[in-house]
Amino acid sequence: VHEGILRRQAQRESAARTYARSLPIVPVRARGLTVEGADGRRYLDCLSGAGTLALGHNHPVVLEAIRKVLDSGAPLHVLDLATPVKDAFVTELFTNLPPELAAHARIQFCGPAGTDAVEAALKLARTATGREGVLAFTGAYHGMTEGALAVSGGARDVRVTRLPFPQDYRCPFGLGGERGAETAARWTESLLDDPRGGVPRPAAMIVEPVQGEGGVLPAPDAWLRRMRRITADRSVPLIADEVQTGVGRTGSFWAVQHSGIVPDVMVLSKAVGGSLPLAVIVYHEDLDVWHPGAHAGTFRGNQLAMAAGTATLAFVRENGLAERAALLGARMLARLKGLAAEHPCVGDVRGRGLMIGVEIVDPVAGARAGAGDGTGPAPAPADAALARAVRRACLDRGLIVELGGRDGAVVRLLPPLILTDEQAEAVLDRFADALAAAER
Ligand code: PMP
Repeated sequence: VHEGILRRQAQRESAARTYARSLPIVPVRARGLTVEGADGRRYLDCLSGAGTLALGHNHPVVLEAIRKVLDSGAPLHVLDLATPVKDAFVTELFTNLPPELAAHARIQFCGPAGTDAVEAALKLARTATGREGVLAFTGAYHGMTEGALAVSGGARDVRVTRLPFPQDYRCPFGLGGERGAETAARWTESLLDDPRGGVPRPAAMIVEPVQGEGGVLPAPDAWLRRMRRITADRSVPLIADEVQTGVGRTGSFWAVQHSGIVPDVMVLSKAVGGSLPLAVIVYHEDLDVWHPGAHAGTFRGNQLAMAAGTATLAFVRENGLAERAALLGARMLARLKGLAAEHPCVGDVRGRGLMIGVEIVDPVAGARAGAGDGTGPAPAPADAALARAVRRACLDRGLIVELGGRDGAVVRLLPPLILTDEQAEAVLDRFADALAAAER
Protein backbone atom coordinates (compact mmCIF):
# COMPACT_ATOMS: atom_id res chain seq x y z
CA VAL A 1 0.00 0.00 0.00
CA HIS A 2 2.60 2.39 1.25
CA GLU A 3 4.95 2.24 -1.75
CA GLY A 4 2.08 2.24 -4.25
CA ILE A 5 0.52 5.38 -2.81
CA LEU A 6 3.86 7.19 -2.78
CA ARG A 7 4.56 6.15 -6.36
CA ARG A 8 1.14 7.30 -7.60
CA GLN A 9 1.55 10.59 -5.76
CA ALA A 10 4.87 11.22 -7.47
CA GLN A 11 3.29 10.44 -10.84
CA ARG A 12 0.09 12.43 -10.44
CA GLU A 13 0.77 15.41 -8.19
CA SER A 14 2.41 18.69 -9.04
CA ALA A 15 6.14 19.25 -9.20
CA ALA A 16 5.50 21.97 -6.59
CA ARG A 17 4.96 19.37 -3.83
CA THR A 18 6.93 20.37 -0.77
CA TYR A 19 6.64 18.35 2.43
CA ALA A 20 5.65 15.31 0.42
CA ARG A 21 9.14 15.24 -1.08
CA SER A 22 11.14 15.37 2.13
CA LEU A 23 8.76 13.24 4.20
CA PRO A 24 7.93 10.03 2.30
CA ILE A 25 5.26 9.00 4.80
CA VAL A 26 1.70 7.83 4.21
CA PRO A 27 -0.03 8.78 7.46
CA VAL A 28 -3.03 6.64 8.28
CA ARG A 29 -3.49 7.28 11.99
CA ALA A 30 -2.44 10.01 14.37
CA ARG A 31 -2.94 10.95 17.99
CA GLY A 32 -1.22 13.66 19.99
CA LEU A 33 2.45 13.81 19.05
CA THR A 34 2.36 10.50 17.20
CA VAL A 35 1.72 9.74 13.55
CA GLU A 36 1.53 6.23 12.18
CA GLY A 37 2.31 5.42 8.56
CA ALA A 38 0.70 2.86 6.26
CA ASP A 39 3.86 0.79 6.65
CA GLY A 40 3.25 0.56 10.39
CA ARG A 41 6.08 2.90 11.35
CA ARG A 42 5.43 5.45 14.08
CA TYR A 43 6.80 8.97 14.21
CA LEU A 44 6.99 11.81 16.71
CA ASP A 45 5.58 14.76 14.79
CA CYS A 46 7.46 18.00 15.46
CA LEU A 47 6.11 19.65 12.33
CA SER A 48 2.53 19.73 13.65
CA GLY A 49 0.97 20.67 10.33
CA ALA A 50 3.45 23.55 9.97
CA GLY A 51 2.67 24.78 13.47
CA THR A 52 -1.10 24.28 13.24
CA LEU A 53 -1.74 21.50 15.73
CA ALA A 54 -1.56 23.26 19.08
CA LEU A 55 -3.19 20.26 20.74
CA GLY A 56 -1.52 17.66 18.55
CA HIS A 57 -3.39 15.28 16.27
CA ASN A 58 -7.00 14.34 16.96
CA HIS A 59 -7.22 15.76 20.45
CA PRO A 60 -10.38 14.45 22.17
CA VAL A 61 -11.77 17.95 22.85
CA VAL A 62 -11.35 18.90 19.19
CA LEU A 63 -12.93 15.69 17.92
CA GLU A 64 -15.77 16.08 20.39
CA ALA A 65 -16.44 19.67 19.27
CA ILE A 66 -16.53 18.61 15.61
CA ARG A 67 -18.79 15.66 16.36
CA LYS A 68 -21.17 17.88 18.29
CA VAL A 69 -21.72 20.10 15.27
CA LEU A 70 -22.07 17.10 12.94
CA ASP A 71 -24.63 15.44 15.20
CA SER A 72 -26.62 18.63 15.80
CA GLY A 73 -27.93 18.95 12.26
CA ALA A 74 -26.47 22.46 11.99
CA PRO A 75 -25.50 23.59 8.48
CA LEU A 76 -21.82 23.15 7.70
CA HIS A 77 -21.71 25.90 5.10
CA VAL A 78 -23.30 29.28 5.76
CA LEU A 79 -21.14 31.93 4.04
CA ASP A 80 -20.80 34.73 6.62
CA LEU A 81 -24.18 34.31 8.31
CA ALA A 82 -24.50 34.45 12.07
CA THR A 83 -24.69 31.09 13.85
CA PRO A 84 -24.38 29.94 17.46
CA VAL A 85 -21.15 28.15 16.48
CA LYS A 86 -19.63 31.35 15.12
CA ASP A 87 -20.90 33.37 18.07
CA ALA A 88 -19.13 31.00 20.47
CA PHE A 89 -15.92 31.16 18.43
CA VAL A 90 -15.79 34.97 18.39
CA THR A 91 -16.58 35.13 22.12
CA GLU A 92 -13.78 32.69 22.96
CA LEU A 93 -11.31 34.42 20.62
CA PHE A 94 -12.08 37.87 22.02
CA THR A 95 -11.70 36.51 25.58
CA ASN A 96 -8.12 35.64 24.74
CA LEU A 97 -7.11 38.77 22.84
CA PRO A 98 -4.81 41.32 24.47
CA PRO A 99 -7.37 43.31 26.53
CA GLU A 100 -6.45 46.66 24.91
CA LEU A 101 -7.28 45.22 21.49
CA ALA A 102 -10.33 43.25 22.67
CA ALA A 103 -11.91 46.43 23.99
CA HIS A 104 -12.06 47.91 20.47
CA ALA A 105 -11.87 44.83 18.28
CA ARG A 106 -13.62 43.97 15.05
CA ILE A 107 -13.23 40.64 13.29
CA GLN A 108 -13.33 39.77 9.61
CA PHE A 109 -13.55 36.14 8.55
CA CYS A 110 -11.23 35.79 5.57
CA GLY A 111 -11.30 32.24 4.24
CA PRO A 112 -9.44 29.02 4.77
CA ALA A 113 -5.79 30.10 4.68
CA GLY A 114 -3.38 32.41 6.42
CA THR A 115 -2.57 34.03 3.12
CA ASP A 116 -6.25 35.04 2.71
CA ALA A 117 -6.08 36.89 6.01
CA VAL A 118 -2.83 38.62 5.03
CA GLU A 119 -4.50 39.86 1.83
CA ALA A 120 -7.41 41.15 3.89
CA ALA A 121 -5.11 42.93 6.35
CA LEU A 122 -3.23 44.70 3.57
CA LYS A 123 -6.45 45.68 1.83
CA LEU A 124 -7.95 46.95 5.09
CA ALA A 125 -4.92 49.11 5.84
CA ARG A 126 -4.86 50.52 2.31
CA THR A 127 -8.58 51.26 2.43
CA ALA A 128 -8.42 52.89 5.85
CA THR A 129 -5.38 55.06 5.14
CA GLY A 130 -5.89 55.77 1.45
CA ARG A 131 -2.19 54.98 1.03
CA GLU A 132 -0.46 52.22 -0.94
CA GLY A 133 3.00 51.47 0.36
CA VAL A 134 3.79 48.75 2.88
CA LEU A 135 6.83 48.27 5.10
CA ALA A 136 7.90 44.65 5.36
CA PHE A 137 10.98 42.80 6.56
CA THR A 138 13.82 40.76 5.15
CA GLY A 139 13.24 37.03 5.54
CA ALA A 140 9.50 37.47 6.16
CA TYR A 141 6.93 34.89 5.12
CA HIS A 142 3.27 35.82 4.82
CA GLY A 143 1.88 33.41 2.26
CA MET A 144 1.67 32.46 -1.39
CA THR A 145 -0.97 34.75 -2.93
CA GLU A 146 0.32 37.80 -4.80
CA GLY A 147 -0.19 40.39 -2.08
CA ALA A 148 1.20 38.17 0.66
CA LEU A 149 4.12 37.17 -1.55
CA ALA A 150 4.90 40.82 -2.21
CA VAL A 151 5.49 41.44 1.50
CA SER A 152 7.46 38.22 1.96
CA GLY A 153 11.24 38.31 1.94
CA GLY A 154 12.91 38.21 -1.42
CA ALA A 155 9.83 39.24 -3.42
CA ARG A 156 9.83 42.49 -5.39
CA ASP A 157 6.96 44.93 -5.54
CA VAL A 158 7.33 48.65 -6.09
CA ARG A 159 4.85 49.36 -3.29
CA VAL A 160 6.79 47.42 -0.69
CA THR A 161 9.79 48.76 1.19
CA ARG A 162 11.94 46.11 2.77
CA LEU A 163 13.52 46.80 6.14
CA PRO A 164 16.18 44.80 7.99
CA PHE A 165 14.80 42.34 10.56
CA PRO A 166 17.14 42.30 13.56
CA GLN A 167 18.84 39.05 14.46
CA ASP A 168 21.75 38.19 16.72
CA TYR A 169 23.13 35.34 14.68
CA ARG A 170 24.23 36.60 11.24
CA CYS A 171 23.26 40.15 12.24
CA PRO A 172 23.00 42.12 8.98
CA PHE A 173 25.07 44.88 10.59
CA GLY A 174 27.58 42.53 12.20
CA LEU A 175 26.53 43.85 15.61
CA GLY A 176 23.85 41.63 17.18
CA GLY A 177 22.06 42.28 20.46
CA GLU A 178 20.83 45.74 21.37
CA ARG A 179 23.22 47.49 19.03
CA GLY A 180 22.06 45.48 16.03
CA ALA A 181 18.40 46.09 16.88
CA GLU A 182 19.06 49.78 17.47
CA THR A 183 20.73 50.08 14.06
CA ALA A 184 17.81 48.29 12.39
CA ALA A 185 15.36 50.67 14.09
CA ARG A 186 17.31 53.77 13.09
CA TRP A 187 17.41 52.51 9.49
CA THR A 188 13.59 52.40 9.55
CA GLU A 189 13.26 55.88 11.03
CA SER A 190 15.63 57.48 8.59
CA LEU A 191 13.84 55.88 5.63
CA LEU A 192 10.54 57.32 6.78
CA ASP A 193 11.81 60.73 7.75
CA ASP A 194 14.39 61.56 5.09
CA PRO A 195 12.64 64.22 2.94
CA ARG A 196 14.77 63.37 -0.10
CA GLY A 197 15.62 59.66 -0.13
CA GLY A 198 12.78 58.53 2.11
CA VAL A 199 9.66 56.56 1.28
CA PRO A 200 6.22 58.22 1.34
CA ARG A 201 4.07 57.53 4.39
CA PRO A 202 2.96 53.91 3.98
CA ALA A 203 -0.41 52.21 4.52
CA ALA A 204 1.01 49.69 6.97
CA MET A 205 3.93 47.87 8.49
CA ILE A 206 3.61 44.07 8.59
CA VAL A 207 5.75 42.00 10.93
CA GLU A 208 5.99 38.47 12.33
CA PRO A 209 6.79 38.68 16.08
CA VAL A 210 8.85 35.54 15.51
CA GLN A 211 9.80 34.82 11.92
CA GLY A 212 8.90 31.19 11.30
CA GLU A 213 9.64 30.08 7.75
CA GLY A 214 12.44 32.67 7.75
CA GLY A 215 14.36 30.51 10.21
CA VAL A 216 12.77 30.95 13.66
CA LEU A 217 13.98 34.44 14.46
CA PRO A 218 12.35 36.06 17.49
CA ALA A 219 12.02 39.83 17.15
CA PRO A 220 13.69 41.53 20.15
CA ASP A 221 11.02 42.97 22.48
CA ALA A 222 12.61 46.43 22.67
CA TRP A 223 12.84 46.59 18.88
CA LEU A 224 9.16 45.64 18.48
CA ARG A 225 8.21 48.37 20.98
CA ARG A 226 10.26 50.77 18.92
CA MET A 227 8.45 49.68 15.71
CA ARG A 228 5.17 50.25 17.53
CA ARG A 229 6.24 53.78 18.49
CA ILE A 230 7.57 54.59 15.02
CA THR A 231 4.32 53.48 13.36
CA ALA A 232 2.02 55.03 15.99
CA ASP A 233 3.80 58.39 15.78
CA ARG A 234 3.18 58.45 12.02
CA SER A 235 -0.35 56.99 12.10
CA VAL A 236 0.76 53.89 10.22
CA PRO A 237 -1.25 50.77 11.14
CA LEU A 238 0.91 47.96 12.51
CA ILE A 239 -0.08 44.49 11.32
CA ALA A 240 1.16 41.58 13.43
CA ASP A 241 1.15 38.31 11.50
CA GLU A 242 0.47 35.76 14.24
CA VAL A 243 -0.52 32.99 11.84
CA GLN A 244 2.24 30.73 13.16
CA THR A 245 3.03 32.33 16.54
CA GLY A 246 -0.52 32.60 17.89
CA VAL A 247 -2.44 30.44 20.38
CA GLY A 248 0.30 29.85 22.93
CA ARG A 249 3.03 28.54 20.64
CA THR A 250 5.69 31.06 21.75
CA GLY A 251 4.98 30.89 25.47
CA SER A 252 2.35 33.62 25.68
CA PHE A 253 -1.10 33.43 24.14
CA TRP A 254 -0.01 35.85 21.39
CA ALA A 255 3.63 36.51 20.61
CA VAL A 256 3.12 40.30 20.68
CA GLN A 257 2.41 39.99 24.40
CA HIS A 258 6.08 39.29 25.16
CA SER A 259 6.84 42.89 24.23
CA GLY A 260 3.51 44.28 25.45
CA ILE A 261 2.78 46.00 22.13
CA VAL A 262 -0.78 46.25 20.86
CA PRO A 263 -0.93 45.99 17.07
CA ASP A 264 -3.70 47.62 15.05
CA VAL A 265 -4.33 44.40 13.12
CA MET A 266 -3.65 40.78 14.04
CA VAL A 267 -3.59 38.12 11.33
CA LEU A 268 -4.64 34.70 12.62
CA SER A 269 -4.91 31.26 11.09
CA LYS A 270 -3.37 27.79 11.62
CA ALA A 271 -4.09 26.92 15.29
CA VAL A 272 -7.17 29.20 15.57
CA GLY A 273 -9.03 26.67 13.43
CA GLY A 274 -8.03 23.81 15.72
CA SER A 275 -6.48 21.91 12.75
CA LEU A 276 -9.23 22.79 10.25
CA PRO A 277 -9.01 25.65 7.70
CA LEU A 278 -9.86 29.05 9.17
CA ALA A 279 -8.32 32.51 8.90
CA VAL A 280 -9.40 35.82 10.40
CA ILE A 281 -8.14 39.30 11.02
CA VAL A 282 -8.85 41.11 14.24
CA TYR A 283 -8.35 44.86 14.21
CA HIS A 284 -9.08 48.17 15.88
CA GLU A 285 -12.59 49.41 15.18
CA ASP A 286 -11.26 52.74 13.87
CA LEU A 287 -9.96 50.89 10.81
CA ASP A 288 -13.38 49.40 10.07
CA VAL A 289 -14.22 51.79 7.26
CA TRP A 290 -14.47 49.39 4.35
CA HIS A 291 -17.74 48.92 2.49
CA PRO A 292 -20.01 45.88 2.62
CA GLY A 293 -18.55 43.34 0.21
CA ALA A 294 -15.10 45.00 0.24
CA HIS A 295 -13.72 41.64 1.29
CA ALA A 296 -15.49 38.39 0.57
CA GLY A 297 -14.76 34.70 0.09
CA THR A 298 -17.15 31.75 -0.13
CA PHE A 299 -15.48 29.73 2.59
CA ARG A 300 -15.62 32.27 5.40
CA GLY A 301 -18.16 30.28 7.35
CA ASN A 302 -16.53 26.93 8.04
CA GLN A 303 -18.57 25.80 11.04
CA LEU A 304 -16.48 22.73 11.80
CA ALA A 305 -13.30 24.84 11.87
CA MET A 306 -14.90 27.39 14.17
CA ALA A 307 -16.03 24.66 16.55
CA ALA A 308 -12.59 23.03 16.51
CA GLY A 309 -11.02 26.46 17.00
CA THR A 310 -13.26 27.33 19.95
CA ALA A 311 -12.35 24.05 21.64
CA THR A 312 -8.64 24.59 21.01
CA LEU A 313 -8.57 28.19 22.25
CA ALA A 314 -10.51 27.25 25.38
CA PHE A 315 -8.29 24.26 26.10
CA VAL A 316 -5.10 26.32 25.75
CA ARG A 317 -6.54 29.01 28.06
CA GLU A 318 -7.98 26.67 30.69
CA ASN A 319 -4.88 24.51 30.90
CA GLY A 320 -2.29 27.27 30.82
CA LEU A 321 -0.64 25.75 27.77
CA ALA A 322 1.10 28.99 26.83
CA GLU A 323 2.91 29.00 30.19
CA ARG A 324 3.63 25.32 29.70
CA ALA A 325 5.12 26.06 26.24
CA ALA A 326 7.36 28.73 27.79
CA LEU A 327 8.65 26.35 30.46
CA LEU A 328 9.16 23.35 28.23
CA GLY A 329 10.59 25.45 25.40
CA ALA A 330 13.18 26.96 27.73
CA ARG A 331 14.19 23.49 28.90
CA MET A 332 14.46 22.17 25.35
CA LEU A 333 16.50 25.21 24.30
CA ALA A 334 18.90 24.65 27.18
CA ARG A 335 19.48 21.03 26.18
CA LEU A 336 19.88 22.00 22.52
CA LYS A 337 22.47 24.59 23.50
CA GLY A 338 24.36 21.80 25.22
CA LEU A 339 24.23 19.84 21.97
CA ALA A 340 25.52 22.87 20.08
CA ALA A 341 28.61 22.84 22.27
CA GLU A 342 29.28 19.21 21.28
CA HIS A 343 28.47 19.49 17.58
CA PRO A 344 30.38 21.95 15.41
CA CYS A 345 27.64 21.63 12.76
CA VAL A 346 25.21 23.47 15.04
CA GLY A 347 25.78 27.15 14.35
CA ASP A 348 22.94 28.53 16.41
CA VAL A 349 20.04 27.46 18.60
CA ARG A 350 17.18 29.89 19.15
CA GLY A 351 13.47 30.20 19.64
CA ARG A 352 10.63 31.17 21.87
CA GLY A 353 8.38 28.68 23.63
CA LEU A 354 7.78 25.67 21.42
CA MET A 355 8.96 27.39 18.26
CA ILE A 356 12.59 26.35 18.05
CA GLY A 357 15.23 26.61 15.34
CA VAL A 358 18.62 24.91 15.02
CA GLU A 359 20.83 26.36 12.31
CA ILE A 360 23.12 23.84 10.63
CA VAL A 361 26.49 25.08 9.36
CA ASP A 362 29.55 23.65 7.69
CA PRO A 363 31.08 21.57 10.51
CA VAL A 364 34.71 22.22 9.55
CA ALA A 365 34.26 25.98 9.49
CA GLY A 366 31.80 25.68 12.40
CA ALA A 367 34.50 24.48 14.75
CA ARG A 368 36.11 27.91 14.80
CA ALA A 369 33.26 30.24 13.79
CA GLY A 370 31.41 32.92 15.71
CA ALA A 371 27.89 34.34 15.67
CA GLY A 372 28.45 37.34 13.41
CA ASP A 373 27.41 39.64 16.23
CA GLY A 374 30.62 41.63 16.45
CA THR A 375 32.05 39.60 19.34
CA GLY A 376 34.23 37.12 17.46
CA PRO A 377 34.96 35.49 14.15
CA ALA A 378 32.36 35.44 11.35
CA PRO A 379 29.72 32.69 11.38
CA ALA A 380 30.33 29.55 9.35
CA PRO A 381 28.47 29.18 6.06
CA ALA A 382 25.01 27.61 6.35
CA ASP A 383 25.01 24.00 5.18
CA ALA A 384 21.67 23.16 3.57
CA ALA A 385 22.86 19.74 2.36
CA LEU A 386 23.84 18.75 5.88
CA ALA A 387 20.56 20.15 7.22
CA ARG A 388 18.72 17.88 4.78
CA ALA A 389 20.83 14.98 6.00
CA VAL A 390 19.86 15.83 9.59
CA ARG A 391 16.18 15.91 8.60
CA ARG A 392 16.55 12.52 6.91
CA ALA A 393 18.41 11.07 9.90
CA CYS A 394 15.59 12.35 12.14
CA LEU A 395 13.02 10.64 9.93
CA ASP A 396 14.99 7.38 10.05
CA ARG A 397 14.77 7.63 13.83
CA GLY A 398 11.03 8.29 13.80
CA LEU A 399 11.13 12.06 14.22
CA ILE A 400 9.42 14.46 11.82
CA VAL A 401 11.07 17.89 11.49
CA GLU A 402 11.18 20.42 8.68
CA LEU A 403 13.67 23.01 7.45
CA GLY A 404 13.39 26.76 7.01
CA GLY A 405 15.56 29.84 6.97
CA ARG A 406 17.16 32.00 4.29
CA ASP A 407 19.42 29.14 3.23
CA GLY A 408 17.09 26.25 4.06
CA ALA A 409 19.52 25.19 6.78
CA VAL A 410 17.45 25.76 9.92
CA VAL A 411 15.84 22.69 11.47
CA ARG A 412 12.50 23.79 12.89
CA LEU A 413 10.92 22.11 15.88
CA LEU A 414 7.22 22.92 16.34
CA PRO A 415 5.86 20.24 18.66
CA PRO A 416 2.28 20.45 19.93
CA LEU A 417 1.76 22.33 23.19
CA ILE A 418 0.47 19.17 24.87
CA LEU A 419 3.96 17.64 24.71
CA THR A 420 4.86 15.85 27.96
CA ASP A 421 8.26 16.08 29.66
CA GLU A 422 9.02 12.51 28.60
CA GLN A 423 8.05 13.19 25.01
CA ALA A 424 10.26 16.29 24.93
CA GLU A 425 13.17 14.16 26.12
CA ALA A 426 12.41 11.49 23.52
CA VAL A 427 12.33 14.12 20.77
CA LEU A 428 15.69 15.51 21.84
CA ASP A 429 17.23 12.05 22.25
CA ARG A 430 16.31 11.24 18.66
CA PHE A 431 17.46 14.62 17.45
CA ALA A 432 20.85 14.29 19.19
CA ASP A 433 21.30 10.86 17.69
CA ALA A 434 20.36 12.16 14.22
CA LEU A 435 22.84 15.04 14.50
CA ALA A 436 25.65 12.69 15.39
CA ALA A 437 24.74 10.32 12.52
CA ALA A 438 24.45 13.12 9.92
CA GLU A 439 27.73 14.68 10.98
CA ARG A 440 29.66 11.44 10.49
N1 PMP B 1 1.99 33.98 7.73
C1 PMP B 1 2.85 33.22 8.43
C2 PMP B 1 3.64 33.84 9.52
C3 PMP B 1 3.00 31.85 8.13
O1 PMP B 1 3.86 31.12 8.82
C4 PMP B 1 2.21 31.29 7.10
C5 PMP B 1 2.29 29.82 6.74
N2 PMP B 1 3.44 29.17 7.05
C6 PMP B 1 1.33 32.13 6.40
C7 PMP B 1 1.24 33.46 6.76
C8 PMP B 1 0.49 31.61 5.28
O2 PMP B 1 -0.49 30.76 5.73
P1 PMP B 1 -1.16 29.72 4.72
O3 PMP B 1 -0.12 28.73 4.34
O4 PMP B 1 -2.27 29.09 5.52
O5 PMP B 1 -1.67 30.49 3.57
